[in-house]
Amino acid sequence: MELFFWGTRGSLPMNTPNHRLFGGNTSCIGVNQGDDMVVFDGGSGLIHLGSDMIKSDRKEIDICFSHFHSDHICGLPFFKPLFDSAFAVRLHSFGNNDASLYEAMSGYLSSPIFPIGLDGFKAQIEFIEHDADDALTIGALCVSACPIPHPGGAHALKVASTDATAADNNKSFVYATDTEHDPKAMNENLVRFMNGVDMAVYDCTYDDAEFDTKRGWGHSTWQEGVRLAMAAKVKQFGIFHHEPERSDDMLLAIEAAAQAMMRQCFVTRDYMRIEL
Ligand SMILES: [Zn+2]
Ligand SMILES: [Zn+2]
Repeated sequence: MELFFWGTRGSLPMNTPNHRLFGGNTSCIGVNQGDDMVVFDGGSGLIHLGSDMIKSDRKEIDICFSHFHSDHICGLPFFKPLFDSAFAVRLHSFGNNDASLYEAMSGYLSSPIFPIGLDGFKAQIEFIEHDADDALTIGALCVSACPIPHPGGAHALKVASTDATAADNNKSFVYATDTEHDPKAMNENLVRFMNGVDMAVYDCTYDDAEFDTKRGWGHSTWQEGVRLAMAAKVKQFGIFHHEPERSDDMLLAIEAAAQAMMRQCFVTRDYMRIEL
């Protein structure tokens, strides 16, 4: 299983001289197993995945959304395959959210915010809404979901490889963003969902020292992410959904501090490729 991090930032795309190392695209991760691919979220990183995709032979894509906040869908209107009738784009959501995927997208892609509406796209687009406990199969990849606390609703997503003939079968990856934790009680549902996976990434927008001033904003801290990863015995943990103004130097300092707590831990960065 191969992971490609097209966007790792949270809340807002950023591009300053202090964002060169880790990048500033918002949430988007591609997961490949052989010829099968699933994408988690359509933040601004999706734009670059689209540019890559139209140069390849791939004509179909499945994008699963954790939720529909703007930093997780803002790449979609600029996703080049949507403007070409040769492509099929399947958009998936899980569980109950404040709005359906279709309602969220058609609302976002409408005047006066974005006057080219869904009708402006040429690709075959499907909106597919799954129950929270449904499993979605895409070739040799199986995607499942776990509700996580976040304003309006959000789901952590897990992908596992199911191709018994592949040498790297039985790999698994959890994508857990955006979510706010309760400092008094670890999210045991999420610990179970992440249990033993090869890699997990988590909403590390803040750190524990600033968390009290950010309560109710729907995000968590890198320390809580490490605590969850250790409790769930995940094999590698990625710090994800960086606060927009976190500079390269700040993220390097966070990485060093996090590695002092858990050795198999790193800060995710745009255009990083990881083989599990
Ligand atoms: Zn977000
Ligand atoms: Zn959000």
